[in-house]
Amino acid sequence: MNPQLDSLVVSSMNLDTFPRIRLFDAPTPIQRLERIEAALGLKGARLFAKRDDLMGLGGGGNKLRKLEFLLGAAIAQGCDTFVTTGARQSNHARLSAAAAARMGLAAELMLTDTVPREDEAYRHNGNQLLDALFGATVHHLPSGSNALAAARARAKKLQAEGRKAYVVGAGGSSPVGALGYAACADEIRAQEAELGLRFETIIVANGSHGTHAGLVAGLAAAGDDPRRVLSFTVLAEVEEARNHTRALANDTLAALACDPLVDDDIRIDGSQRGEAYGIPTEAMLAAVRLMARAEGLLIDPVYSGKAFAGVLAGLAEGRFTGDVLFVMTGGTPGLYAYRPAFAA
Ligand SMILES: *Cc1c(COP(=O)(O)O)cnc(C)c1O
Repeated sequence: MNPQLDSLVVSSMNLDTFPRIRLFDAPTPIQRLERIEAALGLKGARLFAKRDDLMGLGGGGNKLRKLEFLLGAAIAQGCDTFVTTGARQSNHARLSAAAAARMGLAAELMLTDTVPREDEAYRHNGNQLLDALFGATVHHLPSGSNALAAARARAKKLQAEGRKAYVVGAGGSSPVGALGYAACADEIRAQEAELGLRFETIIVANGSHGTHAGLVAGLAAAGDDPRRVLSFTVLAEVEEARNHTRALANDTLAALACDPLVDDDIRIDGSQRGEAYGIPTEAMLAAVRLMARAEGLLIDPVYSGKAFAGVLAGLAEGRFTGDVLFVMTGGTPGLYAYRPAFAA
């Protein structure tokens, strides 16, 4: 066996049959957000955060959970290069670059200008600064490009040069990547047992669907209720997001040799998406500011900011009654790319 794979992790699912590397210290903490609770005047509901932003590699964030399995597969297949796609300010691209560096692989990022922001901060700060620091080769594609096709073409070119590339699309949201959040579902269940509680609702942002899909696959595989997960879509329209998330969850369950979901197991809310992916909303700006001022915690403007705006609205309207777990997914380098949006 490859010595890079020696820290295999054992799980209650058959997750241990997949090659995996360790990229962060688990479990990430679950912490109560009492000052937000007080600010909202909550009665009954309690609010907790799963700190998936607290990971020591590359600035941390949810993509590291996927990369544990994606890079595990790449290394098991003898690859020397990791090729992936994303938006210019992609957190997944940045963490792929950091994790590849950590494992001694080259990283090549195929980035597309999908967000209409032309300012200096968006173009060059935040994740863009870090991609270069981590030594990744960055290819900028024109908007409207098929980035995955470009990534596959790049892998072919590398192969002709005697290299071997592992290719995964946006957000690392293949069934292999989604296993990272199936493992996280196990982790949350173990923490619930330890804390002596059960979260009624587990809330997360939904972009490329792998986080939501992995969580529901992990819960379903454990015989737990996948409807505890609620996501706020920040990219696709709600119906498309639901279809893609369900398909990815079922592919992930198939990889785990488990039964598929029933039809209404995927809960997605479209109310916080705003105009489009990466375009700020007033509710996002308010949610990022409240989290910073009440708790001293940072959430990102593209994903968790919008999802947390949904958490705040739901709590204020009394839609969540029991214990709520908000999965903080990282992405805080994005704050620096959105400086003009916060300047007003
Ligand atoms: C990618 C990302 C998400 C969404 O995860 P998906 O698996 O793409 O749905 C949420 N938060 C942050 C900070 C991200 O970078």
